[in-house]
Amino acid sequence: MNRLVPILIAAALLALLPSCAYRLDTAYNDLLVGTPSDKAPLPRGNQVQVTYLGTNAYLIRSADTTIVVDPYFSRIDMRSVVFNADVSPSPAIITEVSRKAKLGRHVDGYLVTHSHFDHLFDVPPMQRMYGGKVISSPTGAYLAEAAGVSRRQLLPSKPGKIYRIGAAKIRVLPAWHDKVLGRIPYPGTIDTPLTSEPDKPKDFRLGIPLAYLVELNGKRIYLESGGIPGHVPCVTDVDLAIVGVAVPGSQTRYPDAVRALNPKYVLPSHQDNFFIPIEDGFQFSTLSNFPRILATHKAEDLPGELILMDYFRSWMVE
Ligand SMILES: [Zn+2]
Repeated sequence: MNRLVPILIAAALLALLPSCAYRLDTAYNDLLVGTPSDKAPLPRGNQVQVTYLGTNAYLIRSADTTIVVDPYFSRIDMRSVVFNADVSPSPAIITEVSRKAKLGRHVDGYLVTHSHFDHLFDVPPMQRMYGGKVISSPTGAYLAEAAGVSRRQLLPSKPGKIYRIGAAKIRVLPAWHDKVLGRIPYPGTIDTPLTSEPDKPKDFRLGIPLAYLVELNGKRIYLESGGIPGHVPCVTDVDLAIVGVAVPGSQTRYPDAVRALNPKYVLPSHQDNFFIPIEDGFQFSTLSNFPRILATHKAEDLPGELILMDYFRSWMVE
């Protein structure tokens, strides 16, 4: 029972959401970048485009390369998470999100920052629908294989690895998972092939968290989903830094992470309530604190222009 207590507290906190939810376009219009993805022109020449797809999911593409980060569109409701209910991805929702994002028919690769359900859940069905290599921790690879991804398409990885995905060079970097209410959720690794498909939220064990540097058409994009104080990214001078700030610990770490990355633009990520359907749009989660991020960025005169992206917005990296 003790193990359930933090989850139930988190559930109670998140249940307060409607009272403090507000949308990006009314509160922070001046920080928003991008245009609606279904109307945005596709990248041409050397352009690199980023489309935000909720939670920590991004579509990064150039004229000839398509990369998907942490796709999670078949949202699992809070009740199913708390009670560890049977869950399964929705191909219909994935298809609708892909249509709105103008994804096309083919994906070159998926980057998975860690294998919790809110990062890995939709990777296997998407890979089967659109193809592409899956870069993840070994835990993520075992989960994806059990969910039907061919072993040939899996690239179980660790920090230090370098891959070519389409025209992109992908560097795998170390990362550290947020603590939620003092503890890391669903910890542990999976070290042998699974005998059954993951079908409950708790099946999606953390594995080794990873961050990535994507170098594409001369742009350097750093991606992660969060971190803990005392550990900062090990790359610098990036064009765009996507920095996870879901919970107080990663918010405390934010200034050190941004100083280390020295980005041209910084996009705080993983701030939304991912327990509601993606079609309901962006609402800040209860544990997020964007006013704190904004105030810190200004007060500490951090490098990089702070930007925000709403769901289904596409932005050409400048
Ligand atoms: Zn996680």
